[in-house]
Amino acid sequence: MNTLPRFASILRPELAEMVAYVPHPGAYEVRLDANEAPPLLSPEAHARLARALVPPALQRYPDPRSQELREAIAAHAGATPDEVLAGAGSDEVIALLLGALDRPREGLSSATIVTTTPTFVMYRHSARARGIKTIEVPLDARWDLDVGGMKRAIEFGRPNIIFVATPNNPTGGAMSEERLRAVIEAAPDALVVIDEAYVAFAQKSAASLRGAYPNVAVLGTLSKIGFASLRVGWVVAPAELIAEVDKVRQPYNLSIPQQRGATFVLREMRAEIEAVKTFVVAERERIAGELRRMGIEVTPSEANFLWIETPHPAVEVFESLAKKGVLVRSFGARGGRLSRRLRVTVGLTHENDRLLEALAEWT
Ligand SMILES: *Cc1c(COP(=O)(O)O)cnc(C)c1O
Repeated sequence: MNTLPRFASILRPELAEMVAYVPHPGAYEVRLDANEAPPLLSPEAHARLARALVPPALQRYPDPRSQELREAIAAHAGATPDEVLAGAGSDEVIALLLGALDRPREGLSSATIVTTTPTFVMYRHSARARGIKTIEVPLDARWDLDVGGMKRAIEFGRPNIIFVATPNNPTGGAMSEERLRAVIEAAPDALVVIDEAYVAFAQKSAASLRGAYPNVAVLGTLSKIGFASLRVGWVVAPAELIAEVDKVRQPYNLSIPQQRGATFVLREMRAEIEAVKTFVVAERERIAGELRRMGIEVTPSEANFLWIETPHPAVEVFESLAKKGVLVRSFGARGGRLSRRLRVTVGLTHENDRLLEALAEWT
């Protein structure tokens, strides 16, 4: 029995046009589609972390304030614990920011956010699910911020939040700091969220902008440096704002294994994280070189993936790779300048070689 008509009049109207976020299903030998780190953890390190996850008392609720974890994040990010809010991945943190900062500006019927395109889909997805409007400003020809376009969107859209990922997903490059500053200065009464999910693989961090401007927040996550399974992310922002956003958070949003695991990773696994960075950056440059030799255009990357232009429509190349057991992410269905674009995560050496072999047939 279809019960939807019963609820149609009370469901949020945006949901009718949305699809649930489901990563590509199916079994593939080589998964280079989700920007996860390659499995480099030694069995000993794995065992140490596994031990750290186990709660001393299963019947107890976790620490509702994630105090120790926030201290570890603060030390990692050069902040104080009251400037940190932790959540189940950056995804939850993005949702909390949207939930707290969603008052429509005077004369507008809903709150608005501004972001770039292409970029991480969760900003838009999460905003839409809350009835918040999203304005997407295309990146320029080099996949950097279009300051003019951003300024116009800020002026006309009067956003509450501006989301900028740097390095950006899926394009891989960092935004130029000068342009980022221009955007921050153009929106002094909005919160500019700089998403640094990939900062470990970048030449530099934009996090110092947080000290320079009171309207900047910086997102971080463990997901891309080897610990996506834990689902822990955070935002660093002025303490007064964190205190407000914290009121939207559910008290036990992070389980004890999440809190203990993430604290352990940040405090005790610095060498392991460093090893992921070094390996991924070296492999990234090796594959980029090989692809360029094959005549494939590769955008310079500061992340753990490559943004490549395929010689044929990306959808076709994607399908042929998938048939060979190599899963990547295609943006071809979006058409336009994305019609020949694939995003490929840097994997283990033999996985990357499989990708190169499979792509060689197209050149
Ligand atoms: C992968 C990614 C994240 C991570 O999200 P989590 O919820 O922490 O796993 C955040 N921002 C961007 C731009 C990403 O690509």
